[in-house]
Amino acid sequence: MPFTSLGFSPAILPALLRSLAEKDYLRPTAIQTAAIPAILQGRDVLASAQTGSGKTAAFALPLLQQLSEAPVSGTRRVRALILVPTRELAAQVGEVMVTLGKYLPQRIKVAVVFGGVSINPQMMNLRSGADIMVATPGRLLDLIDHNALNLGSVNTLVLDEADRLLDLGFGEELGRILGMLPVQRQTLFFSATFPPAIEALAQSLLSAPLRIEVAATPQAAPDIVQRAIEVDPPRRTQLLRHLVQTEKWERVLVFVATKHAAEIVADKLRKADIEAEPFHGELSQGKRTQVLQDFKAKAVQVVVATDVAARGIDIAQMSVVVNYDLPRSAVDYTHRIGRTGRAGESGMAISFVSASTEAHFRLIEKRQGLSVAREQIAGFEALETQPVNAADPLSNGGIKGKRPSKKDKLRAAAAAAAAERE
Ligand code: AMP
Repeated sequence: MPFTSLGFSPAILPALLRSLAEKDYLRPTAIQTAAIPAILQGRDVLASAQTGSGKTAAFALPLLQQLSEAPVSGTRRVRALILVPTRELAAQVGEVMVTLGKYLPQRIKVAVVFGGVSINPQMMNLRSGADIMVATPGRLLDLIDHNALNLGSVNTLVLDEADRLLDLGFGEELGRILGMLPVQRQTLFFSATFPPAIEALAQSLLSAPLRIEVAATPQAAPDIVQRAIEVDPPRRTQLLRHLVQTEKWERVLVFVATKHAAEIVADKLRKADIEAEPFHGELSQGKRTQVLQDFKAKAVQVVVATDVAARGIDIAQMSVVVNYDLPRSAVDYTHRIGRTGRAGESGMAISFVSASTEAHFRLIEKRQGLSVAREQIAGFEALETQPVNAADPLSNGGIKGKRPSKKDKLRAAAAAAAAERE
């Protein structure tokens, strides 16, 4: 579907198409196709989307139309507020807004504010008001406290990377800001992951939202180096140990399929003098909190987690994510690797692939539109050539030489089909 079919008003469409063409946005991405018509109709949106999906333009374009349709007379008042977790993202979103809006018949003023720099120029800039405010929460509150703006005219709130906003400890600031916004408004909520705190926040803010879930596109994760290393399943722990030690990673999140595997792998790493901890649903809350604190403080270098437990890990900057066991689906893959390389940081995602998991990894690549070169690490070359346990593509290696039964084959086919569907 082209940009012309998304419901933009004829009055501004030529101006938007011109700026889109200059940016080489020839066709809308999946999230743009899904979100733009709904936002233009005034609906709330709840989108599960990562950086790279094209989410910024998905909210920027309809906002620009809404603001152009209701031009201001007199002082500009903030009508669209975009809250972001980091200054890098604030600058990036502001830039997209300005470039996409530059040919509109009405000038839309975009103000970008974030902390860590002097507040005075930001206050001066706000004297003549602004139509769109892109802000990190702390600095926004400072400016409000200085009477540099108020939020009483905000019609649209965008929470961008909501999970990171909470990860970075902006929960309290967010609460204060939300309390200052008009109750009647449109809310657009974007998050890469949906741990319980984010689900609860979304529930409290949104009214009958359109739910959108998109996997990252290939250009999706520009800062994440994705690698696939071929290794026989029984040698994965040794390889992991070798990589942690030789590549000197600071903070590593390793994904495994079971609680048992989390315990075993962490234990073996500890025996090799690596600060490693398991992280899964059977640990007490106290233990989990302790592990997270130590991980944050860099007292723990490696956390070996199951997918479900890892949702509670509110640490954004992971140097490396390792898929010791492959994720079940392409969507899970996106969520896992999204834990590294965020907000302009570079990161690395490594998947261990063996003869028995190769087909499953290919499906993930296909779903992601990816092609990751297979590597071998000297001393850990994969020797197995046949799937050793076709029954379970996610198995910990299976039993060497075991021939799959008919039931095994059916199960494997069903698992592959499920992964394809997701
Ligand atoms: P975002 O997810 O908003 O951070 O965008 C990720 C990248 O995709 C950015 O480099 C955008 O410039 C680019 N992008 C966004 N929308 C499109 C589109 N429709 N066509 C091509 N590239 C796009």
